[in-house]
Amino acid sequence: MSITQVINPATAEVIREVELVDREGTDAAIERAARAFETWRHLAPADRARLLRRFADLVDAHIPELAELEVANAGHTIGNATWEAGNVRDVVEYYAAVPERLFGRQIPVDGGVNITFAEPLGVVGVIVPWNFPMPIAAWGFAPALAAGNTVVLKPAEVTPLTAMRLGELALEAGIPEGVLTVLPGKGSVVGDRFVTHPLVRKVVFTGSTEVGKRIMAGCAEQVKNVTLELGGKNANIVFADADIAAAAAAAPAGVFDNAGQDCCSRSRLLVESAVYDDFMAALETAVSGFVCGDPRSAESDMGPLVTAAHRDSVAAYVDAAEVAFAGTCPTGPGFWFPPTVVTPPGLDAPDFTEEIFGPVLSVVRFDTEAQAVAIANDTEYGLSGSLWTRDLDRALRVSRSIEAGNLSVNSHSSVRYATPFGGYKQSGLGRELGPDAVDAFTETKNVFFATQAI
Ligand code: NAP
Ligand code: MG
Repeated sequence: MSITQVINPATAEVIREVELVDREGTDAAIERAARAFETWRHLAPADRARLLRRFADLVDAHIPELAELEVANAGHTIGNATWEAGNVRDVVEYYAAVPERLFGRQIPVDGGVNITFAEPLGVVGVIVPWNFPMPIAAWGFAPALAAGNTVVLKPAEVTPLTAMRLGELALEAGIPEGVLTVLPGKGSVVGDRFVTHPLVRKVVFTGSTEVGKRIMAGCAEQVKNVTLELGGKNANIVFADADIAAAAAAAPAGVFDNAGQDCCSRSRLLVESAVYDDFMAALETAVSGFVCGDPRSAESDMGPLVTAAHRDSVAAYVDAAEVAFAGTCPTGPGFWFPPTVVTPPGLDAPDFTEEIFGPVLSVVRFDTEAQAVAIANDTEYGLSGSLWTRDLDRALRVSRSIEAGNLSVNSHSSVRYATPFGGYKQSGLGRELGPDAVDAFTETKNVFFATQAI
């Protein structure tokens, strides 16, 4: 077994050593999960629901601890990390309603009675990235468990701590051994085994489009179900008729929240030419007020980037770009990068087309609504986006025209546990959260009972 050192990105100090699960350990965990499935799936629906509610209650009681762990491991601000732990509670609680409402249908047919059942798939493998270790884990495991599946979950190698703690809390809540197993390890070892092991009947993957494509291709080998949440290069469109002060004030958080390490980050800003100068002046003020600092402080709007290597990758984009203005960040140890606004020389500039996944905002102008829509859609991604306008007709027209799964009008909100989340085009496949997420964790079985001799 090998060991990985978990590092605090705000200080560059080692905070813990974690044993990585190897291939044999992964196989053993998958086999345990397959055995646990035989009892978990047959548990009375009310009992499965009760265990999930107890799990949600325990998460609720541990929100400060989980949040502090995420601040230390991922550099998230304490405000964000507290929201993220609360989101886990909410998601588990929301899906705790599922076991007793996992309805099939009775469909009228000739000569008998026809019933459908929503049956669990078996073992589900959830692969989680480092950018939102808690929420993304819960979006996979909560509906999966609620539908009667068992789960093996691989956190990102650099951010395993909160997922490991959630696994302990699940056991403490009385969820049986083997039902939710957290396996810290390498993507190429543990994650890959979820794809190739025949007992894993579905893979939920969130991460880069590049790895997502390989997961999908690997799953095809066994016709394995897959949900993919991949990257984004999301547009924030500001029309001249918008509340410009409000749009400028909200733009920094729309892109720099979580230091821009967010697949929904609005990293492309499209501003109508008539208001461009006024908007940019207001944006500069807003960016200078966006505090990059100690993530433990409630005053901080963003913390450091997750690793030194990731900071170098973000810095390389900015080195090659035209910087309009930037905020400030701490110096010294830690993987800091300031909120930065760039103005690309053309629509094909890498900072405008590639997912940087850091605190970098690329601003361009447009002259017509049609042009704004065309620029917004000129990408292989299609995850989220925002538009700012006071014109209701335009808001509806443009919302319907943007090829993306999650849009917000006059705000930058993307994620609510009760509404569906996912991407168009190469941003993903399938939807998480909301009332229908559980469909992605069940097979429909159709049974016909003859009531008369044929
Ligand atoms: P990644 O390489 O796609 O990793 C995501 C998860 O997949 C991690 O748990 C990783 O494990 C695992 N993984 C890696 N290779 C695998 C394989 N061959 N088989 C199975 N699982 C595998 O993403 P990343 O390296 O963390 O980030 C790279 C870029 O991806 C970011 O800069 C960003 O553009 C994008 N990204 C998007 C999202 C999103 O929410 N859509 C999230 C994170 C990253 P290890 O940690 O052990 O490698
Ligand atoms: Mg990677």
